[in-house]
Amino acid sequence: MERRIQEVLDYCPDMHFVNENDIYIEISGRLNIYRSIEQYVLNKSYKISLFIPKSEEKLPYVVDGGSVDKDYPHIYTNGQLCLATDIDMVLAFEENSSLVNWIQHFVEPYYVTYEYYKRYGEYPEGDRAHGEDGIVQSYMDIFSVDGRHAMRILDEIVYEIYRGHHLCPCESGKTIRNCHGKTILQFKTHPRIMEQAMKDYTVILERWVEAYAR
Ligand SMILES: [Zn+2]
Repeated sequence: MERRIQEVLDYCPDMHFVNENDIYIEISGRLNIYRSIEQYVLNKSYKISLFIPKSEEKLPYVVDGGSVDKDYPHIYTNGQLCLATDIDMVLAFEENSSLVNWIQHFVEPYYVTYEYYKRYGEYPEGDRAHGEDGIVQSYMDIFSVDGRHAMRILDEIVYEIYRGHHLCPCESGKTIRNCHGKTILQFKTHPRIMEQAMKDYTVILERWVEAYAR
């Protein structure tokens, strides 16, 4: 953990350790971002606080220090940035556990997207949905299918024992092993990813039941 924090401090020379409790380590200061998106170039520093969990069960998060307008859709009222869905970050951490990698893939692009949105009035890569719609969208991207089939694959992951010779829940007509097998196994063999999938599936189903009951 010490090494992971030191790596962040090395990468962000204008940030420093602030505080810690049993769950999080807080690092604050300025994050300097020099990045471009399409024709737009951003070279600016942002006052932020990073909250790094001590356990890998939790995800790090960022609280903005007043740079992002409060009416921007992707910021919570407490100033926490809506960076991405949890499953997107869990998958990214499974691939690369470095916090610097996380900053480069989620935090820096967040600010570039924000500035781009402010300047051009639209998102560079299309808007991301919120709440459970955003979660479904993540799984659609992960599995490269539509929403209905993403839910079928998620259902397979959460409830079924892996059987490669069965037909794939995406309804391609192929067997699981010749279709989404690799992705399904990735979920089933990584407890942290599996746990997030179960949580997301429950959230989505609950909202659907609520919507149906109305
Ligand atoms: Zn499939």
